Amino acid sequence: MTETKPIAQDEKLLIQKAYRRMMRSIKTEVHPEDKVNIKRAYDMAVSAHADQRRKSGEPYVLHPIEVARICAAEIGLGPTAIICALLHDVVEDTPVTLEEIREIFGDKIARIVDGLTKLDGTYSYNSPQAENFKKVISTLIEDVRVVLIKMADRLHNLRTIGSMPHQKQLKIAAETNYIYSPLAHRLGLYNIRVEFQDLCMRITDPETYREISEKLQQSKNERNRYIQEFIRPLRKKLEQLNLPYRITGRPKSISSIWNKIQTKNVDFEEIYDLFAIRIIVDVPLDVEKNICWQIYSIVTDVHPPIPERLKDWITTPKSNGYESLHTTVIGPKGRYVEIQIRTERMDEIAERGFAAHWKYKGVKNQKDVYEMWLDNIREILEDQEHEDPVEFLSDFKTNLFKEEVYVYTPKGDMKILPKGATALDFAFSIHTDIGYHASAIKVNNKLVPMGYELQNGDQVHVTTNKNQKPNDDWIKMVKTGKAKSKIRSSLKEEKRKKGEFGKEALERKLKNMKVDFEQAVEFLVKHYNYNNHPELFYDIYKGEFDLAELKKFGVENHQLINKKVESPQEKTESKGEIAPSDRFKAKDSASKILVNGEPADQYHYSLATCCNPVQGDSIFAFFTAGSGLKIHRTNCPNSTHLMANYGYRVMKAEWVDKIGESFQVNLKIIGVDDGPGVIERLTTTISSKLGLNIRSFNIEGSGGYFEGNMSILVMNKNQMEIVIRTLKNLKGITNVIRTS
Ligand code: MN
Repeated sequence: MTETKPIAQDEKLLIQKAYRRMMRSIKTEVHPEDKVNIKRAYDMAVSAHADQRRKSGEPYVLHPIEVARICAAEIGLGPTAIICALLHDVVEDTPVTLEEIREIFGDKIARIVDGLTKLDGTYSYNSPQAENFKKVISTLIEDVRVVLIKMADRLHNLRTIGSMPHQKQLKIAAETNYIYSPLAHRLGLYNIRVEFQDLCMRITDPETYREISEKLQQSKNERNRYIQEFIRPLRKKLEQLNLPYRITGRPKSISSIWNKIQTKNVDFEEIYDLFAIRIIVDVPLDVEKNICWQIYSIVTDVHPPIPERLKDWITTPKSNGYESLHTTVIGPKGRYVEIQIRTERMDEIAERGFAAHWKYKGVKNQKDVYEMWLDNIREILEDQEHEDPVEFLSDFKTNLFKEEVYVYTPKGDMKILPKGATALDFAFSIHTDIGYHASAIKVNNKLVPMGYELQNGDQVHVTTNKNQKPNDDWIKMVKTGKAKSKIRSSLKEEKRKKGEFGKEALERKLKNMKVDFEQAVEFLVKHYNYNNHPELFYDIYKGEFDLAELKKFGVENHQLINKKVESPQEKTESKGEIAPSDRFKAKDSASKILVNGEPADQYHYSLATCCNPVQGDSIFAFFTAGSGLKIHRTNCPNSTHLMANYGYRVMKAEWVDKIGESFQVNLKIIGVDDGPGVIERLTTTISSKLGLNIRSFNIEGSGGYFEGNMSILVMNKNQMEIVIRTLKNLKGITNVIRTS
């Protein structure tokens, strides 16, 4: 990260300028005493980082100064956070110790800096990322500021990521997508989340990113004219309210537009709501709701509304604190326009989330949404104290839900759960014991399966039976992290108990063989790739691990040893970390890929079937425990998860120029059904005109609309793009999309 070169005079001026800019960005009033402390922290950072530079060559200290500025200007944090941001890399990278910081700045600041220090060093082989995220989450419940500063740190690193090697960029993007951006969402840091997603997309899918941003740029003037035309008639009526207000019309983010293109299967040109209009009024708290509805009434008098698009987050705020009134209306030229109506207070919470939330804490008479959420996380953390960090992380992630469903207890108390949550999730959300012993669940007085997906407004009644307990199927029937982790720990406990029988059997057997128990267990767990001892014992109990297997090994000095036999059966990917080794070296397969700059045919490798990369796609290699290297596309739907959790198994991969081999591509073809003509047109175009092989093709349609899935073989990405373009131009075809 750093190299040495003394700071020149002009650089000193640059640093001072950055500092003054940071100070100007502080929104709250700063006490003289705080000012002195900020300056002290700045001086300490400047001298501690004096001979360090960033990858880009600039003085290192510019980084903590900028992180402090982001904390102040973009998250709205105060002096304590600014001091910590300035010092966030000092303990990690310089001779300054935590003790010195505690002496000068006190215990509170030292603790936060300590939290930030612990979160670093993510990329070492021995500390897989998941472990690190778990630390992030643990610090979150101690002092949220640690995570907020970490967000600012991540944001600045992403903004300046250009000088990093591409492979490292991909890993950072994956990590950001996997945890930081959902976390930013959950903490209500709207702007930061959007920027995270856009910056990540620029790394993982640069072509699409460029394409959409160019199209946005090209359509800018037209869009602005339209927004003006839409707003004009509203202004007159809003003036009559005689209240301070402002209207903005902002385009949506590139990544959210791309999301829409994918989920709705449409082209850029077909997306009607490329922007949202926001009307923000400044009124006292007690009339907020009233005035917002008055504005709603004004808007819908001018532009007719689409009633089912009305969302009232004012009466029922989202669980991340978000409040606003949303609707979609039909604007000029019959186009749909999304409108958000809110007050300045709501706007600040919407943009700054957690940080703004404190400012207004207690103004509204309702349960503290964040406190409730943090309690939830605390509970998951406690359950998972000694568990697999990857499992923990995926449980935790369900707590970062984007969409929610509102349901009621029989007494009429409202519960907010993530969308997709089931009746069983509800039982666990009431109380762990109710979850464990849930035997029957009624929704709106009708009996439903445990896995019933809750709908808004459902009233749920749970019947319990003390003999009931979780079984393996339950884990598939829940969506929330709380329910998952509770069920998991109950199942583990159950397995542990049963495993005791297996353990005893093994002990007896080893005693007969005169083998040391401890050594043999270690040896077997390693040899058969078990995650831990209890799993081995449980398999013995179930008979899945036959004790006769032990004959395969030799005994020497009361120790189990390998007899020089055929290699053990490999288990699945998730079983621990293994470095590429000789046993995956395969013989003659034409080298079409370079891994870490060397021909990949020295490894056993294959193209991942989840994303079917073709020559020309941006790719990476992932080392699996069971089947050598797998080559994925960098925008593969699985890549985020793989890189975020197992970044240390990711290797750089690139294509050899010319390969002379074909690759399978899957295409989804959508169109208007005009009889059998379509199928024929498609197949003749591909096989006769383009001369390519169709591997499989199926098509389904109803009501004049059809969808087909086709697998074809192409030589490279260029050829694939030609196919897509040609098919799109055929009569009756409305869209062609590459699928995974
Ligand atoms: Mn940093």
